[in-house]
Amino acid sequence: MDDRLLPTPERLTAWRHDFHRHPETAFEEHRTAGRIAELLRQAGLEVVTGLGGGTGVVAILDGRRGPGRAIGLRADIDALDVEEANRFDHASRRPGKMHACGHDGHTTMLLGAACALAAAPDFAGRVVFIFQPAEESEGGGRVMVEEGLFERFPMEAVYGLHNWPGLAVGEAAVHDGAVMAAFDVFTLRLSGRGCHAAMPHLGSDTLLAACQLASQLQGLISRETPPHQSAVLSITQFHAGDAFNVIPETVELRGTLRCFDGELRTYLERRFRQAVEALAGFHDLKVELDYQSRYPATINAPEHAARCAGVLETLPGITRVHRDLPPSMASEDFAFMLEACPGAYIWLGNGVESAALHNPHYDFNDAIAPLGVAYWQALVKALLDD
Ligand SMILES: [Zn+2]
Ligand SMILES: [Zn+2]
Repeated sequence: MDDRLLPTPERLTAWRHDFHRHPETAFEEHRTAGRIAELLRQAGLEVVTGLGGGTGVVAILDGRRGPGRAIGLRADIDALDVEEANRFDHASRRPGKMHACGHDGHTTMLLGAACALAAAPDFAGRVVFIFQPAEESEGGGRVMVEEGLFERFPMEAVYGLHNWPGLAVGEAAVHDGAVMAAFDVFTLRLSGRGCHAAMPHLGSDTLLAACQLASQLQGLISRETPPHQSAVLSITQFHAGDAFNVIPETVELRGTLRCFDGELRTYLERRFRQAVEALAGFHDLKVELDYQSRYPATINAPEHAARCAGVLETLPGITRVHRDLPPSMASEDFAFMLEACPGAYIWLGNGVESAALHNPHYDFNDAIAPLGVAYWQALVKALLDD
């Protein structure tokens, strides 16, 4: 292999900055996917492109110690619709688009691991490197699973990671079960009879009903979710009205509901629908509800989590492995892969000073890229060592 591909810290930074300058969002990651495929081919891997709706890339590497088990390592490659506020040299060149979740770093670390392992494939079996588009809300992970990722590239386990702001550089977190929440979204339109604000008895007050509903729905969390479980419901949009003296005919609410437990999720959706229907009936309003279940919860298989933690605990540069952090109410479409194949998803500290994920000041911390590469390599050596 060309030793211009060996993942030195400088080279990882250069790759990462290039991805950061050219962010691409859901299913439009053509330049990103092209660059990934090019580097993987130069490193000598077998590369399959055009997956996951077009911009997904999978690369295969067989170990030189003969056949054996196969495992998958996954990185997400997409950016967000965020206007970058950073002014450094590698800031986004594309207005309104930004790598504000660090997927540029995830892509770089998995590329680094692929290049390093290709240079010294000292393991038995096969590694499947999965570069997945459209993580942020369009479910590229689901698309890859539905188009047959695990049938076409059989593997017995799959692993993922996310950089984690607030966790110190050198620290990692591994959960034994739920890591990230399930994610539902809803759009709710209430329509009644608009009327003069001075004569509410001649119409039906959509706004009053919507306010009552927004407040009442919180009861699903505070009174109906078992106190030892977690769920969150946020109304994030409330659109109505144009005048001081008109009760509007329609109100539109949007929001999201998140929890970890599948049964609780089904229950809350049913009760959400009942609450909306009941309140609308009382106020004599028409309801249009679009309730969508987006991502399931991301659940680690405990035995795979234990393997990841074991690898991290002996990895040079890792100072602490948290095993008891609470899961995040954010969501992750790696959940679809973990539903189809056992495995685990870890958090790697992006530093205590790091801006939050999705913040316009966020930047992936280049200092952790070599650590991520080392983790992937060590995981492969630990799991494919027979
Ligand atoms: Zn994100
Ligand atoms: Zn992310």
